[in-house]
Amino acid sequence: MKKTIVANWKMCGTPESTKLWAQEFSSKSANIPTNNKIVVCPPAGLINLLKNALTENKPDLGGQDCHAQPEGAYTGETSAELLKSLGCEYVIVGHSERRTNSNETSETVRQKASRAIKSGLIPIICIGETSKQRENGKTLEIINQQIEESLPFEANSNNFILAYEPVWAIGSGKLPTMDEIKQVHSAIINNVARRIAIDVAKVCVLYGGSVKPDNAGEILSLPEVSGVLVGGASLKAEDFVKIVMSCKY
Ligand code: PEP
Repeated sequence: MKKTIVANWKMCGTPESTKLWAQEFSSKSANIPTNNKIVVCPPAGLINLLKNALTENKPDLGGQDCHAQPEGAYTGETSAELLKSLGCEYVIVGHSERRTNSNETSETVRQKASRAIKSGLIPIICIGETSKQRENGKTLEIINQQIEESLPFEANSNNFILAYEPVWAIGSGKLPTMDEIKQVHSAIINNVARRIAIDVAKVCVLYGGSVKPDNAGEILSLPEVSGVLVGGASLKAEDFVKIVMSCKY
């Protein structure tokens, strides 16, 4: 089964570190399985530089967020149209850091995902529960609500990806058990398939949260997991390539 492996550099990287990352990725990725999809999402200001610095086995590119409007007086924002024109195929929307730090609601996330689709990008829509919600047994309730409110009306069998990222697992080194990942992914897949009337096999759900070279293989082996979204461990090209290489399924 083809898997999608996405690097989210967050607000990290300089022109110098990006050139080094590209050199290392290109030199170490000669044997990566070609049937998988690799996507790298650097900060917007580094997209062009990364595109030009990659020489071999070029991954696809993505943005880390986009605005819901196509253009206009939105100082500091990045449009989906600009990302597309820079060569991106994907954009992350609704990351928990944005939901928390920028007070983004699921309705805003839906509008951003919708704009991304209209601009020819595939939105990677992040959903996930906080530790408190998990402790209160509300994981599936929260997930279902986020799907209902964040999924764009244009969603069909091939124009969006979901990423299940438990907020408490991001950057913490903590991970749900494999059974918990299976259970939540199955719930997401069934919910989405029912909601937009598509085959369950067409629903693409990535797992994100403390994915590292030493746990990626087990996570990626789960049939309910369509791929992984990798933050911290994607900053070192060597570790990211190890994660990609651990995908043998
Ligand atoms: C993320 O930022 O989406 C993420 C999953 O981060 P990390 O891999 O560092 O937990």
